[in-house]
Amino acid sequence: MRLSTRSRYCVRALLDIMVNGGGVKPVPLSKVAERQEVSEKYLEQIFIILKKANIVKATRGVKGGYILAKEPKEICLGDILRVTELEVTPVKCSANKDYCDRMDRCICKVCWDNLGKVITNFIDSITLEDIRQMSITIDEGMGAIVDLSLTKLNKEIKRLKKERDAVILVHNYQRPEVHEIADYLGDSLDLSRRAAKLPQKIIVFCGVNFMAESAKVLSPEKTVLIPRLDAGCPMADMITVEELREMKNEYPDAKVVCYVNTSADVKAESDICCTSANAVKVVESLKPKRIIFIPDKNLASYVAGQTKKEIIPWYGYCYVHEFIRLSDIKEQKRKHPDARVMVHPETKPEVVRIADFVLGTMGMINLAKKSKIKEFIVGTEEGLVNRMRRENPEKKFYLPSRRPVCVNMKRTRLEDVYHSLMEMKYKIEIEKDTIKKAQKALKKMIAIK
Ligand code: SF4
Repeated sequence: MRLSTRSRYCVRALLDIMVNGGGVKPVPLSKVAERQEVSEKYLEQIFIILKKANIVKATRGVKGGYILAKEPKEICLGDILRVTELEVTPVKCSANKDYCDRMDRCICKVCWDNLGKVITNFIDSITLEDIRQMSITIDEGMGAIVDLSLTKLNKEIKRLKKERDAVILVHNYQRPEVHEIADYLGDSLDLSRRAAKLPQKIIVFCGVNFMAESAKVLSPEKTVLIPRLDAGCPMADMITVEELREMKNEYPDAKVVCYVNTSADVKAESDICCTSANAVKVVESLKPKRIIFIPDKNLASYVAGQTKKEIIPWYGYCYVHEFIRLSDIKEQKRKHPDARVMVHPETKPEVVRIADFVLGTMGMINLAKKSKIKEFIVGTEEGLVNRMRRENPEKKFYLPSRRPVCVNMKRTRLEDVYHSLMEMKYKIEIEKDTIKKAQKALKKMIAIK
């Protein structure tokens, strides 16, 4: 089986329609052709087939064009390939005795048939929505799809923001185009604290769920919106209230220090919160010798190395930092011997050990800005590194050889922010009692100087 250019242009064109039409607005084929650098005539032929297969719908008139006929999560790659390719099985190995006379007793046939099943399963398991998510880490193609609509969306967002009297808070790890619409750019707690002091009553938080929850906890009277409900944090999800309660029962003499990267429910069950920057200080501020530290095992290990207290860790981790390997850093060090290494304490202990600086997000930003060092190898999410590059164009910043990208952080796109402001979705709702308790844990931390 060989996939033709027809399939490639077809997938790109469908993504283009999906992104620029937002599921409601017909997209003219001429625009898709312009963005995808392909002839309109060629696309017309493809779209006739797609229309027959009920993958797209056409509308006529001045504002006419194409929209998807179904939700992106209901259109799988298999549906597309079966109409654009003649054959989606690996080899022609059956139904023709002239082609092969050993069909019934050939081991290859069994293998090819199974291979065909695997391919079918694979292409049927990937939807257009998944492909869009995959493009998060691939600039080619999707960049060309989105770029032209960014300026327009940017303007619309600004207009709506003014109309609603809202403020947009953006985490450092978000996409570059989302950075551009930020009223404030920063780390999660810094943004939430800022939000509490701002006059606006509507906060759009471009980050992951626990961050928007923290903003709500610190400003319960305000409306906090998160543009993507599915922007969760796998690390925050690694501990539940029930698991924390069990741990507390096991160590009744211990106090619970909870990293801000946790749900409001878990914060409410903890004694005090901490950030990566103040974790050691927070632990030291407590009287008991035993500290339950949740949820990040790597941050717990870093803290344990800086205090005499007994740290009882949970086994959670941030997959982005956990997968930064020592060999990745060493490889960059070989290529750039003059560069100094700065890493986030969520990285593994062996990575922390070889680092010149172990810093939280804002610590890294400040070091990049104030230090005389001209080259850095940075062990954290690439969004922060992009910010460092923008703010310090005269310095060099190298990422580990495998790019550390948080897919969850990259879910939020400009069109999501637009829809969020337009439809006032998705509102963060937390029970009053949980807010009260979580607020107590956060405020205790904030009181530590
Ligand atoms: S970078 Fe790590 S901690 Fe932050 S949202 Fe992604 S998974 Fe969670």
